[in-house]
Amino acid sequence: MQKTIQLQLLPSEAMSENTICEHIASSVGEQPRDISGFHIIKRSLDARSSTPRIILTVLAFIREPYFPRENRIISFPDVTKASKKVIVIGAGPAGLFAALKLIESGIQPIVLERGKDVRARRRDLALLNKEGILNPESNYCFGEGGAGTYSDGKLYTRSTKRGNLERILQLFVQFGADENILYESHPHIGTNKLPHIITAMREQIRDCGGQFLFGKKVIDFTYSDDAIRSIKTADDDNFSADGYILATGHSARDIFHILNKKKIKIEAKPFALGVRIEHPQSLINSIQYRFDRLIHDAVGQQEKKWLPPAAYSLVEQVNKHAVFSFCMCPGGIIAPASTSQQELVVNGWSPSKRNNPYANSGIVTTIEENHLKSFSTHGALAGLHFQQSVERKAFEAGGGKFVAPAQRMEDFVNRKTSTRLPDCSYLPGVHSCSLNEVLPDFVYESIAKAFIFFGKKMKGYYTNEAIVVATESRTSSPVRIPRDPKLLHHPQIRNLFPCGEGAGYAGGIVSAAMDGERIAAALANRWAK
Ligand SMILES: Cc1cc2nc3c(=O)[nH]c(=O)nc-3n(C[C@H](O)[C@H](O)[C@H](O)COP(=O)(O)OP(=O)(O)OC[C@H]3O[C@@H](n4cnc5c(N)ncnc54)[C@H](O)[C@@H]3O)c2cc1C
Repeated sequence: MQKTIQLQLLPSEAMSENTICEHIASSVGEQPRDISGFHIIKRSLDARSSTPRIILTVLAFIREPYFPRENRIISFPDVTKASKKVIVIGAGPAGLFAALKLIESGIQPIVLERGKDVRARRRDLALLNKEGILNPESNYCFGEGGAGTYSDGKLYTRSTKRGNLERILQLFVQFGADENILYESHPHIGTNKLPHIITAMREQIRDCGGQFLFGKKVIDFTYSDDAIRSIKTADDDNFSADGYILATGHSARDIFHILNKKKIKIEAKPFALGVRIEHPQSLINSIQYRFDRLIHDAVGQQEKKWLPPAAYSLVEQVNKHAVFSFCMCPGGIIAPASTSQQELVVNGWSPSKRNNPYANSGIVTTIEENHLKSFSTHGALAGLHFQQSVERKAFEAGGGKFVAPAQRMEDFVNRKTSTRLPDCSYLPGVHSCSLNEVLPDFVYESIAKAFIFFGKKMKGYYTNEAIVVATESRTSSPVRIPRDPKLLHHPQIRNLFPCGEGAGYAGGIVSAAMDGERIAAALANRWAK
């Protein structure tokens, strides 16, 4: 017999398969020896009870042989001789998943990526972290796998299209991700594991006859009669195909400039900007797991060591602006995510074990059209210029070499320069300064007020032990590249398909991947008719 059962276990109990079997047996009134095995269907943490519990939904095999979980394997045909070819510009999650879906549909992808492969890219990241030297073509945003490769690898999305989400997670597993992403309520791959997965995707694309080229930065294209005729790369190569997927991400500002210059419609869109905050992870654990409640609880004290590093999610309306936490990384590192010289951008990541002593999160506020009045002469690029101006101020305030300007949290609120900064995970280093010199007033004030509210929601969060680092400016694209609502091509160019985060249709790895698949499917449908 197979039965779906929900269990509430202590964290230590959830670590042991034998103990899980014992709990299954007692919940169905059988002996542990009668349970031949189980599949985990869902796993989440309930931190509300006095001792946090792991909630497990399992499919138990009772008095019948156990069989391992059968993951669906998606097969990819040989497309070497395909009649249709599509150029995919950008090898981030949107571009990679688009290329794979094209292959599945019998179309040959030609992936053009401005950066380097994951391995060569790692050396450029080391140079940036250790010596503050940025390669504008190979960094945390540009290169194989895009911003997704050295990202945190949290695989959450607000999308409700469950089937599509499961397919993306299945594909990640097929290319080497741990199976647990299929059942964790908050799946996370970790920066250390993503490069292998991305490499396996590229090998699959090449094995099937797709092309995958590095160092191919698209800098121009020709078009006539509503269609792109050819595209040009910085190394003076030209390419042409039956369709073009533009998946260049939110940091490819040069692409927005090219489109704008050629009068190909782009639109300004709201985005978010702010800072990254870092607390000791032990402090976030003690707040979130309410360690104060466990002082007189012997079981709770024992269980502390089995709890995962705690996460949080915060939001507050301040003066009609939403201020919210973004991309929270338990056990993480603050990373330099700049793509241009003299512009400072930070973001965060964590390894799969989330075992760094710090907890960081973006704290950002929404930037709407009415905040961009002084940049309005830039039209659709107003948000981009606004972003850039803050990033430049942050770079200057840090004093160069991607050292980040920073302030203690209470000092930030009290507008006081910190005399000494606490330790910080940001490898290029931090420099004490007043962040009101960097952030626009309304951003600074909204975030300062939100910090006080956050301290009321999470007692202990508002503390001078925390460090505020500027600037978190690449949360989403400040520009949208419009597309036809049904056929998904650009309204002016029938063979150009804007895709992913840079085009304004995704926010994060999973939604970018889903958008990539959607665009590839739209192309396949067009030619199937
Ligand atoms: C440090 C960090 C941590 C993050 N953590 C998470 C997380 O935990 N979870 C999550 O969901 N998201 C996270 N993100 C965001 C996530 O990585 C992005 O949302 C996602 O990668 C967007 O996918 P995309 O394919 O649309 O664009 P991108 O990933 O930006 O890819 C665009 C690609 O296009 C290439 N390109 C750009 N211009 C050109 C050109 N002219 N010619 C050729 N190629 C070009 C770039 O080199 C890049 O490879 C993180 C990002 C960073 C930087």
